[in-house]
Amino acid sequence: MEIINRKQRIASISRKLRRESRTVGFVPTMGALHEGHIALVKKARQMSDVVIVSIFVNPAQFGPNEDFDRYPRDLTADAALLAEYEVDYVFVPETEEIYGPGFSTYVYVEGLTETLEGASRPGHFRGVATIVTILFNTVRPDLAFFGSKDAQQVGVIKRLTRDLGFDTEIVVVPTVREESGLALSSRNSLLSPEDRSKAAIIYAALVAAKTAFKNGERNASELAQIVEDKLRSEPAATIDYIAVVNNDDLEPVEKIDDREVLIAVAVRFGSVRLIDNIILNRKQ
Ligand code: AMP
Repeated sequence: MEIINRKQRIASISRKLRRESRTVGFVPTMGALHEGHIALVKKARQMSDVVIVSIFVNPAQFGPNEDFDRYPRDLTADAALLAEYEVDYVFVPETEEIYGPGFSTYVYVEGLTETLEGASRPGHFRGVATIVTILFNTVRPDLAFFGSKDAQQVGVIKRLTRDLGFDTEIVVVPTVREESGLALSSRNSLLSPEDRSKAAIIYAALVAAKTAFKNGERNASELAQIVEDKLRSEPAATIDYIAVVNNDDLEPVEKIDDREVLIAVAVRFGSVRLIDNIILNRKQ
Protein backbone atom coordinates (compact mmCIF):
# COMPACT_ATOMS: atom_id res chain seq x y z
CA MET A 1 0.00 0.00 0.00
CA GLU A 2 1.34 3.40 -0.97
CA ILE A 3 0.46 6.66 0.76
CA ILE A 4 0.32 9.61 -1.60
CA ASN A 5 0.14 13.32 -0.78
CA ARG A 6 0.22 14.91 -4.21
CA LYS A 7 -2.69 15.31 -6.61
CA GLN A 8 -0.43 14.96 -9.61
CA ARG A 9 1.00 11.67 -8.40
CA ILE A 10 -2.36 9.99 -7.75
CA ALA A 11 -3.63 11.36 -11.07
CA SER A 12 -0.68 9.85 -12.93
CA ILE A 13 -1.05 6.48 -11.18
CA SER A 14 -4.71 6.45 -12.07
CA ARG A 15 -3.96 7.39 -15.68
CA LYS A 16 -1.54 4.48 -15.93
CA LEU A 17 -4.11 2.07 -14.47
CA ARG A 18 -6.67 3.20 -17.02
CA ARG A 19 -4.18 2.65 -19.83
CA GLU A 20 -3.71 -0.90 -18.53
CA SER A 21 -7.53 -1.33 -18.52
CA ARG A 22 -7.59 -1.95 -14.78
CA THR A 23 -10.72 -0.72 -13.01
CA VAL A 24 -10.25 1.79 -10.24
CA GLY A 25 -12.55 1.77 -7.19
CA PHE A 26 -12.46 4.91 -5.07
CA VAL A 27 -13.58 5.43 -1.47
CA PRO A 28 -13.51 9.07 -0.29
CA THR A 29 -13.41 9.50 3.50
CA MET A 30 -12.52 11.98 6.21
CA GLY A 31 -10.55 9.35 8.14
CA ALA A 32 -11.06 8.19 11.75
CA LEU A 33 -12.01 5.00 10.02
CA HIS A 34 -14.48 2.47 11.41
CA GLU A 35 -16.35 -0.60 10.20
CA GLY A 36 -18.71 1.59 8.15
CA HIS A 37 -15.80 2.81 6.05
CA ILE A 38 -14.44 -0.72 5.89
CA ALA A 39 -17.73 -1.93 4.41
CA LEU A 40 -17.13 0.52 1.54
CA VAL A 41 -13.53 -0.66 1.17
CA LYS A 42 -14.61 -4.32 1.07
CA LYS A 43 -17.19 -3.57 -1.59
CA ALA A 44 -14.58 -1.65 -3.58
CA ARG A 45 -12.15 -4.56 -3.21
CA GLN A 46 -14.80 -6.96 -4.57
CA MET A 47 -15.79 -4.79 -7.51
CA SER A 48 -12.53 -3.20 -8.70
CA ASP A 49 -8.99 -4.20 -9.67
CA VAL A 50 -7.35 -1.36 -7.77
CA VAL A 51 -8.67 0.36 -4.65
CA ILE A 52 -7.87 3.97 -3.79
CA VAL A 53 -9.03 5.51 -0.50
CA SER A 54 -8.77 9.21 0.20
CA ILE A 55 -8.51 10.71 3.67
CA PHE A 56 -9.16 14.43 3.81
CA VAL A 57 -10.99 16.38 6.48
CA ASN A 58 -12.48 18.88 4.10
CA PRO A 59 -12.65 22.35 5.69
CA ALA A 60 -15.05 23.59 2.99
CA GLN A 61 -17.87 21.36 4.23
CA PHE A 62 -17.73 22.55 7.84
CA GLY A 63 -19.55 25.67 8.99
CA PRO A 64 -17.73 28.29 11.11
CA ASN A 65 -19.26 26.95 14.34
CA GLU A 66 -18.92 23.29 13.50
CA ASP A 67 -16.52 20.62 14.67
CA PHE A 68 -13.69 20.90 12.10
CA ASP A 69 -11.01 21.48 14.75
CA ARG A 70 -12.09 18.66 17.01
CA TYR A 71 -13.01 16.25 14.23
CA PRO A 72 -11.12 13.01 15.09
CA ARG A 73 -7.90 12.36 13.14
CA ASP A 74 -5.65 9.30 13.37
CA LEU A 75 -3.70 8.66 10.19
CA THR A 76 -1.48 5.96 11.72
CA ALA A 77 -4.42 3.81 12.79
CA ASP A 78 -6.25 4.51 9.52
CA ALA A 79 -3.29 3.46 7.38
CA ALA A 80 -2.82 0.25 9.37
CA LEU A 81 -6.50 -0.62 8.95
CA LEU A 82 -6.50 0.09 5.22
CA ALA A 83 -3.37 -2.03 4.71
CA GLU A 84 -5.18 -4.90 6.42
CA TYR A 85 -7.99 -4.67 3.87
CA GLU A 86 -5.61 -4.64 0.91
CA VAL A 87 -6.10 -1.10 -0.21
CA ASP A 88 -3.60 -0.21 -2.95
CA TYR A 89 -3.27 3.58 -2.56
CA VAL A 90 -4.23 6.06 0.13
CA PHE A 91 -4.46 9.66 -1.00
CA VAL A 92 -3.89 12.02 1.95
CA PRO A 93 -3.48 15.58 0.68
CA GLU A 94 -2.69 18.57 2.88
CA THR A 95 -5.34 21.30 2.83
CA GLU A 96 -3.10 23.51 0.62
CA GLU A 97 -2.75 20.72 -1.93
CA ILE A 98 -6.50 20.93 -2.54
CA TYR A 99 -7.25 24.58 -1.75
CA GLY A 100 -4.15 26.37 -2.97
CA PRO A 101 -3.61 30.14 -2.91
CA GLY A 102 -6.37 32.00 -4.71
CA PHE A 103 -8.70 28.98 -4.84
CA SER A 104 -12.14 30.32 -5.73
CA THR A 105 -14.13 27.74 -7.69
CA TYR A 106 -16.98 25.92 -5.95
CA VAL A 107 -19.58 23.43 -7.15
CA TYR A 108 -23.17 24.08 -6.17
CA VAL A 109 -25.88 21.47 -6.74
CA GLU A 110 -29.20 23.31 -6.79
CA GLY A 111 -32.44 22.12 -5.23
CA LEU A 112 -31.40 18.89 -3.58
CA THR A 113 -29.01 20.68 -1.25
CA GLU A 114 -31.40 23.20 0.22
CA THR A 115 -33.33 20.92 2.59
CA LEU A 116 -32.43 18.66 5.55
CA GLU A 117 -28.65 18.78 6.11
CA GLY A 118 -28.40 21.65 3.64
CA ALA A 119 -30.90 23.74 5.61
CA SER A 120 -29.25 22.95 8.96
CA ARG A 121 -25.70 23.29 7.67
CA PRO A 122 -25.53 26.14 5.14
CA GLY A 123 -22.64 25.64 2.73
CA HIS A 124 -22.11 22.02 3.73
CA PHE A 125 -23.05 20.49 0.37
CA ARG A 126 -21.19 23.16 -1.55
CA GLY A 127 -18.11 21.91 0.28
CA VAL A 128 -19.01 18.26 -0.34
CA ALA A 129 -19.78 18.79 -4.04
CA THR A 130 -16.57 20.78 -4.52
CA ILE A 131 -14.27 18.23 -2.91
CA VAL A 132 -15.93 15.29 -4.63
CA THR A 133 -15.59 17.06 -7.98
CA ILE A 134 -11.90 17.75 -7.35
CA LEU A 135 -11.28 14.17 -6.21
CA PHE A 136 -13.22 12.62 -9.11
CA ASN A 137 -11.42 14.86 -11.55
CA THR A 138 -8.07 13.85 -10.10
CA VAL A 139 -8.66 10.11 -9.63
CA ARG A 140 -11.19 9.55 -12.46
CA PRO A 141 -12.46 6.36 -10.81
CA ASP A 142 -14.58 3.77 -12.61
CA LEU A 143 -16.51 3.19 -9.40
CA ALA A 144 -16.95 5.32 -6.29
CA PHE A 145 -18.40 4.05 -3.03
CA PHE A 146 -20.60 5.99 -0.61
CA GLY A 147 -22.59 5.06 2.50
CA SER A 148 -26.37 5.32 2.68
CA LYS A 149 -25.99 6.74 6.19
CA ASP A 150 -25.42 10.02 4.37
CA ALA A 151 -28.47 9.60 2.16
CA GLN A 152 -28.72 13.20 1.01
CA GLN A 153 -25.02 13.21 0.18
CA VAL A 154 -25.60 10.19 -2.05
CA GLY A 155 -28.34 12.09 -3.90
CA VAL A 156 -26.11 15.14 -4.33
CA ILE A 157 -23.18 13.07 -5.60
CA LYS A 158 -25.30 11.09 -8.04
CA ARG A 159 -26.67 14.35 -9.39
CA LEU A 160 -23.29 16.03 -9.82
CA THR A 161 -21.82 12.89 -11.39
CA ARG A 162 -24.60 12.95 -13.96
CA ASP A 163 -24.68 16.71 -14.51
CA LEU A 164 -20.91 17.16 -14.84
CA GLY A 165 -20.55 14.03 -16.96
CA PHE A 166 -18.16 12.02 -14.81
CA ASP A 167 -17.66 8.51 -16.12
CA THR A 168 -17.98 7.07 -12.62
CA GLU A 169 -20.56 4.63 -11.30
CA ILE A 170 -21.80 5.49 -7.82
CA VAL A 171 -22.17 2.44 -5.59
CA VAL A 172 -24.18 2.84 -2.38
CA VAL A 173 -23.42 0.67 0.64
CA PRO A 174 -25.90 0.04 3.49
CA THR A 175 -25.32 1.62 6.91
CA VAL A 176 -23.20 -0.39 9.33
CA ARG A 177 -24.46 -0.21 12.91
CA GLU A 178 -23.31 -1.04 16.41
CA GLU A 179 -25.17 -3.87 18.12
CA SER A 180 -27.32 -1.21 19.82
CA GLY A 181 -28.46 0.02 16.40
CA LEU A 182 -26.43 3.24 16.57
CA ALA A 183 -25.01 3.98 13.11
CA LEU A 184 -21.22 3.91 13.15
CA SER A 185 -19.80 7.40 12.76
CA SER A 186 -16.41 9.00 13.36
CA ARG A 187 -18.29 11.48 15.56
CA ASN A 188 -19.43 8.72 17.95
CA SER A 189 -16.01 8.93 19.58
CA LEU A 190 -16.88 12.48 20.66
CA LEU A 191 -19.88 11.21 22.69
CA SER A 192 -19.63 10.50 26.40
CA PRO A 193 -20.11 6.78 27.18
CA GLU A 194 -23.58 7.60 28.60
CA ASP A 195 -24.66 9.54 25.52
CA ARG A 196 -23.27 6.85 23.27
CA SER A 197 -25.63 4.29 24.76
CA LYS A 198 -28.53 6.78 24.84
CA ALA A 199 -27.97 7.57 21.15
CA ALA A 200 -29.29 4.10 20.29
CA ILE A 201 -32.71 5.80 20.59
CA ILE A 202 -32.14 7.30 17.11
CA TYR A 203 -32.32 4.01 15.28
CA ALA A 204 -35.01 2.72 17.64
CA ALA A 205 -37.15 5.72 16.65
CA LEU A 206 -36.61 5.04 12.94
CA VAL A 207 -37.42 1.36 13.39
CA ALA A 208 -40.62 2.29 15.27
CA ALA A 209 -41.73 4.28 12.23
CA LYS A 210 -40.81 1.46 9.88
CA THR A 211 -42.81 -0.99 11.98
CA ALA A 212 -45.84 1.30 11.89
CA PHE A 213 -45.42 1.54 8.11
CA LYS A 214 -45.29 -2.26 7.84
CA ASN A 215 -48.48 -2.37 9.91
CA GLY A 216 -50.23 -0.17 7.36
CA GLU A 217 -49.54 3.45 8.41
CA ARG A 218 -49.19 5.51 5.21
CA ASN A 219 -49.49 9.01 6.58
CA ALA A 220 -46.07 10.70 6.59
CA SER A 221 -46.87 13.10 9.41
CA GLU A 222 -47.99 10.16 11.61
CA LEU A 223 -44.69 8.43 10.94
CA ALA A 224 -42.78 11.63 11.74
CA GLN A 225 -44.77 11.87 14.97
CA ILE A 226 -43.80 8.33 15.95
CA VAL A 227 -40.12 9.21 15.44
CA GLU A 228 -40.54 12.44 17.39
CA ASP A 229 -42.33 10.80 20.34
CA LYS A 230 -39.66 8.16 20.62
CA LEU A 231 -36.81 10.68 20.44
CA ARG A 232 -38.51 12.93 22.99
CA SER A 233 -38.59 10.00 25.41
CA GLU A 234 -34.81 10.46 25.73
CA PRO A 235 -34.12 13.73 27.58
CA ALA A 236 -30.47 13.83 26.42
CA ALA A 237 -31.56 14.00 22.78
CA THR A 238 -32.27 17.33 21.06
CA ILE A 239 -34.02 17.02 17.72
CA ASP A 240 -32.61 19.10 14.87
CA TYR A 241 -34.99 17.78 12.20
CA ILE A 242 -37.17 14.83 11.29
CA ALA A 243 -38.01 14.57 7.59
CA VAL A 244 -40.16 12.18 5.60
CA VAL A 245 -39.31 12.74 1.94
CA ASN A 246 -39.18 11.03 -1.46
CA ASN A 247 -35.85 9.29 -1.72
CA ASP A 248 -35.20 10.52 -5.27
CA ASP A 249 -35.86 14.26 -5.10
CA LEU A 250 -36.02 14.74 -1.30
CA GLU A 251 -39.37 16.53 -1.64
CA PRO A 252 -41.70 16.11 1.35
CA VAL A 253 -44.38 13.42 1.05
CA GLU A 254 -47.79 13.35 2.68
CA LYS A 255 -49.22 9.98 1.72
CA ILE A 256 -46.77 7.16 1.12
CA ASP A 257 -47.42 5.10 -2.02
CA ASP A 258 -45.02 2.57 -3.53
CA ARG A 259 -42.15 5.00 -4.11
CA GLU A 260 -39.04 4.86 -1.97
CA VAL A 261 -39.37 7.15 1.04
CA LEU A 262 -36.53 8.38 3.21
CA ILE A 263 -37.06 9.09 6.89
CA ALA A 264 -34.04 11.17 7.90
CA VAL A 265 -33.17 12.65 11.27
CA ALA A 266 -30.50 14.82 12.82
CA VAL A 267 -30.22 14.70 16.59
CA ARG A 268 -27.84 16.34 19.03
CA PHE A 269 -26.41 14.78 22.16
CA GLY A 270 -24.65 17.64 23.92
CA SER A 271 -22.52 19.27 21.24
CA VAL A 272 -22.35 16.17 19.05
CA ARG A 273 -24.69 16.13 16.09
CA LEU A 274 -25.63 12.74 14.65
CA ILE A 275 -27.62 11.83 11.54
CA ASP A 276 -29.35 8.63 10.54
CA ASN A 277 -32.07 7.45 8.21
CA ILE A 278 -34.16 4.54 7.08
CA ILE A 279 -35.73 3.83 3.70
CA LEU A 280 -39.28 2.54 3.25
CA ASN A 281 -40.30 0.63 0.10
CA ARG A 282 -36.68 -0.03 -0.77
CA LYS A 283 -36.62 -1.24 -4.35
CA GLN A 284 -33.60 -3.56 -4.46
P1 AMP B 1 -16.94 10.26 6.31
O1 AMP B 1 -15.55 9.82 6.64
O2 AMP B 1 -17.82 10.41 7.50
O3 AMP B 1 -16.98 11.43 5.36
O4 AMP B 1 -17.58 9.05 5.51
C1 AMP B 1 -16.96 8.54 4.36
C2 AMP B 1 -17.91 7.56 3.71
O5 AMP B 1 -18.24 6.51 4.62
C3 AMP B 1 -19.24 8.21 3.31
O6 AMP B 1 -19.64 7.71 2.05
C4 AMP B 1 -20.17 7.77 4.40
O7 AMP B 1 -21.52 7.70 4.00
C5 AMP B 1 -19.64 6.38 4.69
N1 AMP B 1 -20.05 5.94 6.02
C6 AMP B 1 -19.93 6.63 7.19
N2 AMP B 1 -20.48 5.94 8.21
C7 AMP B 1 -20.98 4.79 7.67
C8 AMP B 1 -21.66 3.67 8.21
N3 AMP B 1 -21.97 3.58 9.50
N4 AMP B 1 -22.02 2.68 7.36
C9 AMP B 1 -21.70 2.75 6.04
N5 AMP B 1 -21.05 3.78 5.48
C10 AMP B 1 -20.69 4.79 6.28
